[in-house]
Amino acid sequence: MIIRFANAAAAQAYISRSSSRDWKGLVLHHTYRPTATQYLGTVTVEAIRRYHMTEKRNAAGKVIKKAWSDIGYHLLVGPDGYIYGGRPMALAGAHVLAQLSGSPVPDPNRTMLGLCAIGDYDNEVPSPRLVRSLRIINEALMERFGLGFKHFEHRQFQAKSCPGAMLWNFDWKGDEEMPAEDNEDDVPDDWAADAWKWAEDEGLMNGDEPRAPVTREMLAMVLKRFKELS
Ligand SMILES: [Zn+2]
Repeated sequence: MIIRFANAAAAQAYISRSSSRDWKGLVLHHTYRPTATQYLGTVTVEAIRRYHMTEKRNAAGKVIKKAWSDIGYHLLVGPDGYIYGGRPMALAGAHVLAQLSGSPVPDPNRTMLGLCAIGDYDNEVPSPRLVRSLRIINEALMERFGLGFKHFEHRQFQAKSCPGAMLWNFDWKGDEEMPAEDNEDDVPDDWAADAWKWAEDEGLMNGDEPRAPVTREMLAMVLKRFKELS
C-alpha cells in the first residue's frame, strides 16, 4: 500500500512511530523514469509499485526479474515535496545490491532503508520542496535511529549514476533557510509552471489552487473542455 502523507508532521510521525527494523542508515535513489516532469502524484507512486510487483521476461520468455512483494523503497519524495510511505519499515528493502567490490556494507537491503527521490536527477534540478522533504525525512530518521545513522548513494554499491549527479553528495542538513511548507501555495512549482499557464490560457482550468487535489468530476470537466478545444 502507498501512503501519501498530508504534511511533514504526518511523515515524521510515521517515521518515528511505525514498526521498524533497526536501520543503520539509508541508500538514496532517484527513479530516473518517471522524470519529475512526468510525475502526477500518488498515481505515479502507485505505478512504480505495480512495476516493481510485475515479473519481467526477456524476448525468449525467460524470467529476468521476479515480481517483488511490494514497492522496493520504504520512503519516496515527489518533486512537489509530498512524502510517501512505500514498503513497511519493518521489512527488508529491495532497492540495492552490493555488486561493486568497494561496496560500503555487505547486505544493504537488510540494514539500509531505501529512500527514493522521484525524478531524473542526472538531468533535472531538484526542487526546493524535494530538498526540504529529504531533510525532514533525515531529521526524523536521525532522531529515531541515532546519530550513527549513515547516508549512502546507490552508485556506491552498483555501477549506476543513481541518485543522479544533481543529488550526489547531498547536503542532508543544509545551511540555507528551508522554504516554509505552505508558502507560495497559489503559485505552481517551477516544473509545472509552463503547463499551468497553458491550461489557464486555454481556459481548461481557472488558475486557482495549483496544489489542490482534483476530483473525478473536475477531471471530466477539464477533459470535455480539452476535447472542445481541439
Ligand atoms: Zn537507485
